[in-house]
Amino acid sequence: MVETNDIMLESMTSSSPTLLPPRAVTLLAALFLLALPTPAPAQNAQDTPQDAPYFQITFLDVGQADAILIRAPEGQTALIDAGRSNPLQLLNDMDVDQIDLLVATHPHADHIGGMTDVLNAIPVRFYMDNGQPHTTATYQRLLSTLQQHTDVTYLAAEPRTISLGSAELEVLPLPPIDAVDHNNRSVGLVVRFGSFTAFLSGDSEVQELSHFLREGVVPDVTLLKAPHHGSDNGFTPDFLQTSRPEVVVISVGSNSYGHPRPEALYAYEAVAEGVYRTDIRGHVTIRGYEDGRYEVFVGQEAVASGRERADADGSGLRPEPLPPTPGTPADPRPIPSDALWVFPDAPGNDHQNTNGEYAVLESWTSQTIDRGGWTLCDAVRHCFRFPTGAVLPDGGQVVVYTGYGTNDGVSFYMNSGQAVWNNDGDTATLYDAGGTPVLRYVY
Ligand SMILES: [Zn+2]
Repeated sequence: MVETNDIMLESMTSSSPTLLPPRAVTLLAALFLLALPTPAPAQNAQDTPQDAPYFQITFLDVGQADAILIRAPEGQTALIDAGRSNPLQLLNDMDVDQIDLLVATHPHADHIGGMTDVLNAIPVRFYMDNGQPHTTATYQRLLSTLQQHTDVTYLAAEPRTISLGSAELEVLPLPPIDAVDHNNRSVGLVVRFGSFTAFLSGDSEVQELSHFLREGVVPDVTLLKAPHHGSDNGFTPDFLQTSRPEVVVISVGSNSYGHPRPEALYAYEAVAEGVYRTDIRGHVTIRGYEDGRYEVFVGQEAVASGRERADADGSGLRPEPLPPTPGTPADPRPIPSDALWVFPDAPGNDHQNTNGEYAVLESWTSQTIDRGGWTLCDAVRHCFRFPTGAVLPDGGQVVVYTGYGTNDGVSFYMNSGQAVWNNDGDTATLYDAGGTPVLRYVY
């Protein structure tokens, strides 16, 4: 029974008007008495985003690392990983004066490096990890800090449900300890607040994501934390088709691994409404409402909003086809034969690194189609014309780089001496050889 594993976290600083009587909760064979949380305020279907209670997840910009601050509608907080170095200034800026649940997804330094500073400076009620030790000095320092803080209650990351105010954190079953490496035993969490659902799993790679799928614990989510900083081993098509996130956030900084990998970016862009990178955007916050609506903030600024898509439509992996031209029959809407993405932000100065920006065209048909004479243009009609005989094979990809190079059938070059794709937003349109627009990518 999941009941016996339920843990109710109520923040001592919560301004809850009423408290229900405490009840006994069995935990790790010990008995803890914890107050039940105050029930969530009655939900009104007419609530507007401005006054409806919301659940908030902030991906702190901590470079090539993870630190994710969760806030329940009633004020309880959880911190999932603590960055590579001391995150106290950021937590202070976020007015965090208590952490109800601190989670170390796995004992790598980019996830636990800042945890000792957190434990020594901020009252922490519960600490959770996967129970797997590491040999590093960083881990040993964290372990001895935890041993000194006898007021912090240890939780093993085993299947259980934790109530954080009126939100729920479901701890997912881990793969067997001997079978996999540290990344693939990252603590997996599904966070639920009404119809808003988030999936967080540290540096999971294919092995652990496949394990979660086999266990049947991957729901259709609203928000996905890109596993493993946008690595090409941090997703699988099956995982994305099952999780169907509306929003993907990649916690990433300057690194030598090539994170986020273009393959991961393509995959996330194909499935989600919005993909946000902390290295480009800084702190990214998602607010989730009980009815499945969400809002995305970059710093203090609201940049997007939307709603959890209904389960039924099953179209999560297809980009929208072009809207029908006025005056032409609207139905049936064509299924696009290609997908198009633009990666406009080259490392360094875009004008000096013109091959650092590029567009990717991927075939989604089972036919091999000749694109000779097709053109790809930005919003102000800087265009690239595919040479005669350019063929996009079944399921294949071609990349159109902005700068100089020799076309080889897979890589094409606009041979432009300056950047073409606007970093702040642009429109890429693909025209067939007759000049008819067939696909558009707007960012
Ligand atoms: Zn990591």
